[in-house]
Amino acid sequence: MMRIGQGEDMHHVDDARTLVLGGVIIEEGPGLLGHSDADVLLHAITDAILGALALGDIGLHFPASNPSFRDADSADFLRHAMRSARDAGWQLANIDSTVRTERPKLRPYIDIIRDRIAAICEVEASAVSVKAKTSEGLDAVGRGEAMFATAVVLLAQSRPGAT
Ligand code: MG
Repeated sequence: MMRIGQGEDMHHVDDARTLVLGGVIIEEGPGLLGHSDADVLLHAITDAILGALALGDIGLHFPASNPSFRDADSADFLRHAMRSARDAGWQLANIDSTVRTERPKLRPYIDIIRDRIAAICEVEASAVSVKAKTSEGLDAVGRGEAMFATAVVLLAQSRPGAT
């Protein structure tokens, strides 16, 4: 038995904030606007896992209306989704993700981000793919006004009777 899940997210660029992407602080920025730490990549991955479990989305589990999630560490959202998966009898087979942004250039950070996501999810880094694209000036991402992330995940049954 397998389950597939898909997630996506988009955040406004905000130069006044610190960029946190895939759980990694990237000092050169630009940061992202959001209620939590605005980690667009971890939000997409978290939504993909919740989607595979048919458990709704990140906004249902961590509503922005709840002040306790202000500046929240999005790694906690992802850990919550992973715990939900394990509790229901599923293990993470792999993640494939893409971040669209004009800046910073992500190549130097890709393997650091993969390692960080793998640590949060307690899987091997070889199970975590992170890709980066630019958008050639074509939309809000291309104009440098936003970052966008998508993720797909595959969950595999880890015990009989996974729900
Ligand atoms: Mg988000």
